[in-house]
Amino acid sequence: MTMIYLDHNATTPMDPRVLDVMLPMFGEQFANPASKHAAGQAASGLVERARTQVAGLLGTIRRSVVFTSGATEAIHLGVRGAFGASGRTRLLVGATEHPAVFAAARATRAQVETVRVHRNGTLDLEHLEELLDRDVSLVAVTAANNETGVLNDISAIAEVTHLAGALLACDVTQAVGRVPVRLTAWGVDLAFCSAHKLHGPKGVGALVVSRPVQARLRPLVEGGGQERGMRAGTLNTPAIVGFGAACAIAEAELAEASRRQRELTGLLHDLLAARVEVQVNGEGAERLPNTINLRFVGATADAVQTCAPEVLISAGSACSSGKDEPSHVLLAMGLNETEAEQSLRFSLGTATTEQEVRRAAELIGSAVERVRQLNQTSGAAMASGGTPQ
Ligand code: PLP
Repeated sequence: MTMIYLDHNATTPMDPRVLDVMLPMFGEQFANPASKHAAGQAASGLVERARTQVAGLLGTIRRSVVFTSGATEAIHLGVRGAFGASGRTRLLVGATEHPAVFAAARATRAQVETVRVHRNGTLDLEHLEELLDRDVSLVAVTAANNETGVLNDISAIAEVTHLAGALLACDVTQAVGRVPVRLTAWGVDLAFCSAHKLHGPKGVGALVVSRPVQARLRPLVEGGGQERGMRAGTLNTPAIVGFGAACAIAEAELAEASRRQRELTGLLHDLLAARVEVQVNGEGAERLPNTINLRFVGATADAVQTCAPEVLISAGSACSSGKDEPSHVLLAMGLNETEAEQSLRFSLGTATTEQEVRRAAELIGSAVERVRQLNQTSGAAMASGGTPQ
C-alpha cells in the first residue's frame, strides 16, 4: 500500500539539504559553542549564523531569538516568564489556541480568560477589546491555526493589545515557512515556533522575545547562562544549525511553494466537492496555503479514515487526535459535536504532488460514499427492527 502523507501540520519530513548541513555537527564540528577555544568558537559561529537565518524568516532581529527544544517549551518560557514579571493579574487566550498555550497560561497564577472567535475561526477583535484592561498582562493569539489554517490579522490584534499596555504573544508555529511572518512590523512582543513544521529537525524551536521583555523575562531553567541567561543548557548545535538551514530554504522558496500548495489544496477541495457534500471549516477566512479542513456531511472522520488508510491525515491536531474528544477549535467556531466529528484536516508539504492529491481525493471520496451507504443501510435496518450491520 503506497501511503500519501497529507499531515504536514503534525510534522514534515526533513529536507535532505537540511540533513547535509547537520551531519558534520555530529562529527568533526562537535564542539560546545560555549567553549572559548577555536573549535568552540567555530561551533558558536554556526549557531549565530542559524540565529540570523531564523530571525530573517521571522522578520525580527537576531538578538531576539532564543533557541529552545520546540514551540511547546518556547510557549511555556514566553507565557510563564513574561507573566511572572508583569505584576498584572489577567491573561487572555484565543479560544482556538494550541493546548500548549492553555497549559502555559494555567501554569501561571493568572486569571485566564478566553477570547471568542468568529464562525470562520478568526479572533473576535471586539470581544478582545471588551476584555482588555490595565490588569491584562498578556494576550496570546495564533498567527495560523494548526487545525484549520485560519490566519489572524496580527497587526490589528497587536494594536488593540498595546493600547491596554499588555504584551502580545503570537504562536507562529504553523505560519512560519508557509506565509510571510513579520514579527517586528506586526508589533509582536513574544513568538513561538518549531523547526519540524518547516522541513527542519524535531526537538528544536525558538522563542522570539523583544529586547524590553527580555530584560524582565524569568527563565524556566537556570544553569550555565546560555542564551543570555534565558534558557540554560548546552545548545543542541546539530538541530539549531538544521533549523537555520530550513529557514533559509523556506525564505528562498516560500513564494513558489505557497503558490503550488494553494493550487493543490484548491484542487483537492474541488475534486471532493464534485463528488460528495463537503463544507470548508474556516470558509471565508484567509487560510494557510497548505491546509484545508473539510467536513464530510453524514460521515464521521474516524470511519472515513478507516476506509482510506492509505491517506495519512488528521482529525483535529496531532496532539489531541489520540483523544476521542471533538476538536476544541471546531467547537469554538460554533460547530456542534457531530459536525466536528465529521471533520478532517488535510495539510500538504513542499513535496506533495498533483498526482498524490488526485489519488487522495479519489480514495477519500469513495471512503465517504461507503460510510454514507453503510450509515443508510444500518439506519434502514434499525427502522425495520433489524440488527445494524
Ligand atoms: N503550536 C502550534 C500551533 C502547533 O501546531 C504545535 C504542534 O503541533 C505546537 C505549538 C507545539 O509544537 P512542538 O510539539 O514542536 O513543541
